[in-house]
Amino acid sequence: MPATATTLIIVLLLAACGIAAGLVFGLRRRLVAEARARKIAEERLASVLEYTPVAMSVVRKDGTVEHINHNFRKLFGYGPEELRTVEDWWPRAYPDPEYRAQAIAIGQQMVSASRETCSESEPKEMRVTCRDGTVKEIEFHYVDLNRIGLWTMIDNTDHHRTEEAARLANDHLLSQLSEIGRLQEALREQAMRDPLTTLFNRRYLDETLEREIARAMREGYPLTVMMLDIDHFKKLNDTYGHLAGDEMLKVTGQMFASHARLDDVICRFGGEEFAIVLPRMSLETARLRAESWRQAFAETTVTFGTFSLQATLSAGISAFPEHGKTRDELLEAADLALYRAKRNGRNRVELASTKISD
Ligand code: GH3
Ligand code: MG
Ligand code: MG
Repeated sequence: MPATATTLIIVLLLAACGIAAGLVFGLRRRLVAEARARKIAEERLASVLEYTPVAMSVVRKDGTVEHINHNFRKLFGYGPEELRTVEDWWPRAYPDPEYRAQAIAIGQQMVSASRETCSESEPKEMRVTCRDGTVKEIEFHYVDLNRIGLWTMIDNTDHHRTEEAARLANDHLLSQLSEIGRLQEALREQAMRDPLTTLFNRRYLDETLEREIARAMREGYPLTVMMLDIDHFKKLNDTYGHLAGDEMLKVTGQMFASHARLDDVICRFGGEEFAIVLPRMSLETARLRAESWRQAFAETTVTFGTFSLQATLSAGISAFPEHGKTRDELLEAADLALYRAKRNGRNRVELASTKISD
């Protein structure tokens, strides 16, 4: 081979080697620069994370824990030396194997969801056991940043505790309110009842009769008022004692109540006197009703200790509007009729005859 050709080959080879070395050198420089840039970026990320006001951790794709920040350590008490990988975290944070399996599955779902959507996954809450044994309700957020994943953890324990306390206070308040409602209802009931017979009392009669008269007037139906009084009750008391008299009053009340319609208002007017308001009942029907009560009462024997008590009753009936248009007029007319029944021999029913007013 001529010398010039050999020289040319050597020159070309040297040039090729120079170019290759340049390329390798340039590549190496670029890789070194990239590695440095990545290290700087990681250091920056670590220093940003270190001072964020929430607990955070950086986990690599292979599960290595790259960084846990100050607030993470403060929140859970675990340091980087004991949390090198997620495998170190799971048994500590979730000691119960069943719950751990659920928590791991939830965490993995969050990672996949973030990778798929390239955005933060929906936050999930889990119960985490801390180094000192306390259990905290932690809200986990996860965002996938390609090579690494960023976990953010918010402690909701106090929030839940406050919510729970508020809920308990609210439940307590509601139960107190319903207790107050029950007591008010019981008081209202007591205020309108006679304690001995449990029939309505005179106050209730006064209110109801006015209302019933107004309704009867508005709707144009008849209404009757009956006054009933036990005959010679004083004598019964004197002979058998006051308690025997009480028993007789109770049985009388029960007899009226067990033979009344739903709308009838049966009251203990006072002493041994009863008043009954009978809406939608004509005077004649009321008379038949009073007669049957009178007869049934006369046939009733009340047992009190060794005594067998018997008594009769007298009744007077007035009707709206024939004998009065107001409460007082109707009561007075019925009372006058009752007085007549007493005068005419007792154990009888009398109808009001006079109209009290126009
Ligand atoms: P009359 O046939 O004229 O109605 O005579 P009476 O004896 O039934 O009527 P009087 O008004 O003279 O007496 C009523 C008695 O009822 C007097 C009172 O001591 C008694 N009395 C009132 N309230 C009660 C009560 O709650 N229990 C008992 N045992 N007696 C009562
Ligand atoms: Mg009497
Ligand atoms: Mg009387």
